Amino acid sequence: MRYLSTRDKTKRMTAAGAIAEGLSNDGGLYVPVVLTSLAGNAIETLRAMSYQQRAVYIMGSYLDDFSAAEITAFADRAYSEKGFDHPEIAPVHTLSAGTHFLELWHGPTCAFKDMALQMLPHLLTASLEKTGEKREACILVATSGDTGKAALEGFCDVNRTKILVFYPKDGVSDIQRLQMTTQTGGNVAVCAVEGNFDDAQTGVKRIFSDRALGEELSANGYMLSSANSINWGRLLPQIVYYVSAYCDLINADKIAPGQKINVCVPTGNFGNILAAYYAKLMGLPIDKLICASNENNVLTEFIRTGVYDRNRDFFTTLSPSMDILVSSNLERLLFEMSGKDDRLVASYMKKLAEQGSYVINRDIHAKISATFWAGFCDDEKTKLVIEAAYQKYHYLLDPHTAVAFDVLNHYRHDTGDDTATIVVSTASPYKFCDSVLSALGHKTEAKGLALIEELRILTGIKPPAPLVRLSDKFERFTSCARKEQMADVVRSFLKE
Ligand SMILES: *Cc1c(COP(=O)(O)O)cnc(C)c1O
Repeated sequence: MRYLSTRDKTKRMTAAGAIAEGLSNDGGLYVPVVLTSLAGNAIETLRAMSYQQRAVYIMGSYLDDFSAAEITAFADRAYSEKGFDHPEIAPVHTLSAGTHFLELWHGPTCAFKDMALQMLPHLLTASLEKTGEKREACILVATSGDTGKAALEGFCDVNRTKILVFYPKDGVSDIQRLQMTTQTGGNVAVCAVEGNFDDAQTGVKRIFSDRALGEELSANGYMLSSANSINWGRLLPQIVYYVSAYCDLINADKIAPGQKINVCVPTGNFGNILAAYYAKLMGLPIDKLICASNENNVLTEFIRTGVYDRNRDFFTTLSPSMDILVSSNLERLLFEMSGKDDRLVASYMKKLAEQGSYVINRDIHAKISATFWAGFCDDEKTKLVIEAAYQKYHYLLDPHTAVAFDVLNHYRHDTGDDTATIVVSTASPYKFCDSVLSALGHKTEAKGLALIEELRILTGIKPPAPLVRLSDKFERFTSCARKEQMADVVRSFLKE
């Protein structure tokens, strides 16, 4: 399988090359020349497999420069019983007839980013090896919470890599901060940045575009690399759980083989829902893709009207991992929906960079609307949904998943479509104890880790072990930098 760029479809790259580079040098994103197919009896075959075997089957079809033995070893390490607290890795929880939550938070950091970031380090290091890269990779991450911890856990003590995570000092929850500052491993560091997520992200982007710094680090044997969701090595593992969930639903007699389902995804950078779209194109019987946003509803407007406009107020919400105004992976959708029109995609992205907005043509919008439906949910409603789901089903939703559930209810109400639906559950409710407790009407003076215990006592629902264990851990990383100092933080980290 070869890969091309969304801004230059004549380009050809191997899978290892695409993963090692992350972003194409024309600014585009790598996509496979063709999507592989699940036609014939693929689903029958996959039904009998474990999650790890399903991952090997699906990922292997895109990674022909990797051997089956390699991919098998990666899948066993990434989705191990040690790292995940559920034997099915990504189990499906049926809430009521036709509504199934795909729980993607049974991994080491209790959020769905683990599904990809437990796999990416293996793909990346092998890709560097295959492409003859001699330098060590230094992964730089700016995080609003979930990605940073998942990347630290994924890259911790992985050979030939170092990882440095910047998080906004006042922009993450107590639990998210402790998850990062207590991280173990000889190749990791974490640093707070004065300001909000945008400050941290701008700082990291500046470091990536600083050529002098790049050359200096290269002379010392390092290359900068990113773990963000534009990398094909992060997207590919996400296709697996949609196929896996479909197999599980058949195996549990919840759907018949071949039956159409809908998928509803709480969306930020558009990576997770794009993986569902790729699964659909590969032949998985998905009908509608429902895109759920919080008050940062740039995608709702885009899918409804065809206008993408980031020139709007930014809201800090209860679902911080969806507080995003530029959804990078949308570029891959535009490429597909435009009939792989690389020039048109490049022109939209140029407008986005220069004016902060673009309008897609009618044909593309019609195609997108035929498959995607979009809605959003504000914080107040998010809390009501958490409470209602708990009261009615004794099931706890984290705020991101609650946004999706609300939008699904909108969709069903507006369209009358009651197709069986997978709602993607992206974080453990225990990662957002403060919001969940307040949604349940529980008033407390407690802070940080004490909230985990309060939520457990209130609900009787077991918290994930990695979060409970945080209380025994030592806070290793307590430094805080100003945005201008971030390059020096990188320099001194790489001298250690
Ligand atoms: C990252 C994240 C999302 C958004 O996923 P995208 O792939 O960026 O659309 C949703 N929920 C949680 C909990 C996340 O961590």
